[in-house]
Amino acid sequence: MSLQPGGAPAAERTDIRAELGLRPIINVSGTMTALGASIMVPEAIAAMAAIAPEFVEIDDLHRKASAVLARLTGAEAGFVTASCASGIALSIAGSMTRDDLLAIERLPDVTEGLKTEVLIQLGHVVSFGAPIDQSIRLAGGKAVPVGTVSLAQPYQLESAIGQRTAAALYVVSHHTVQFGMIPLPDFAAICRKREIPVIVDAASEYDLRGFLAQGADIAVYSGHKFLGGPTTGIVAGRKDLVRAAYLQNRGIGRGMKVGKESIVGVMAALQAWEKRDHGGIRERERAALQLWLEALQALRGIAATIVPDPTDNPLDRLQVSVLPESGFTAAGLAAALAQGSPPVIVRDHEVERGHFFLDPCNLHPGEAEIVARQLVETLRSSNAARFAAAERQRSIERLMKWPD
Ligand SMILES: *Cc1c(COP(=O)(O)O)cnc(C)c1O
Repeated sequence: MSLQPGGAPAAERTDIRAELGLRPIINVSGTMTALGASIMVPEAIAAMAAIAPEFVEIDDLHRKASAVLARLTGAEAGFVTASCASGIALSIAGSMTRDDLLAIERLPDVTEGLKTEVLIQLGHVVSFGAPIDQSIRLAGGKAVPVGTVSLAQPYQLESAIGQRTAAALYVVSHHTVQFGMIPLPDFAAICRKREIPVIVDAASEYDLRGFLAQGADIAVYSGHKFLGGPTTGIVAGRKDLVRAAYLQNRGIGRGMKVGKESIVGVMAALQAWEKRDHGGIRERERAALQLWLEALQALRGIAATIVPDPTDNPLDRLQVSVLPESGFTAAGLAAALAQGSPPVIVRDHEVERGHFFLDPCNLHPGEAEIVARQLVETLRSSNAARFAAAERQRSIERLMKWPD
């Protein structure tokens, strides 16, 4: 039994990583770009292989993808681009140029008369590995912050809308401030009254219909996160705005384009999503969480609790709090696990708060047991305290030497 449709028992998989000299990491971090995102579903892999040797008319293939996207999201239309970050940039560009082909060719230089301002609540100005306002600037747009880091109010949004407002960007993610922000239905209603398109970054969300249903004009997803497709971005929404974003392929979208293989891959992943045994997957994820919880129970200085996903995705994680009696800091324990054999990569984005998370949504069969064993062995080993601090700094130092 696999935890994801693509999962096969470790022993049955020939591991290309060994051939390439790469570490056989176990991902309990989540759908992270830096770790290869997700286990691609077999339907996507098969579709990509099938289209690879064939020629197709790409606009027609995109038409077919649009129909699939419309069916799954409830949108009027959709298209596939390189990533969610690209989808945001192209949607913003489209809201600026609409269907003006000359303006599309001129971006990111903005000609007279184009609206360029993009409203975003300050608590939504996140980094997902790159700053989100850069996706606005790439299109030639200008981010206009609304409210403060911890509080945004409807009147602040209303007064920020002006003659030069092209769009408003709304982020649904664990990365954002989770309180004090304007709820999407209210945000969308204010923008709709003034005819400002609302673009939702829903990169890592399960809900394919809800944000459009709550009033968004465009919702943008990552194809390679929960959907288990190839690395792609999905743009879905109002037909005229999706078309304007699609037309950017004759402009700034050229460097963000996807080929036939990615388009059919994500179409297949979406069709598989409709048939996926979501309940069965949740059951197996719960079993992994329970296994880890029990493994950690006996260990000194560790407190573990199952916590729900902060944006209500149907997914729980194990929060592992690391107390001084354990002999570790949370950062130190995360680093020690990442140095183990096999390396276990935990979800460490708020490790400064003294905890990390174990995410069960990307496990191959047998890996949950390995993670439990590595946790216990690492906590019992004495030499691991040397991994105490400054991991973020160290990873930047390493990056700056790439490719060594
Ligand atoms: C992952 C993520 C992105 C970036 O998605 P890509 O498809 O990798 O470009 C953007 N926004 C949020 C909220 C994310 O979680």
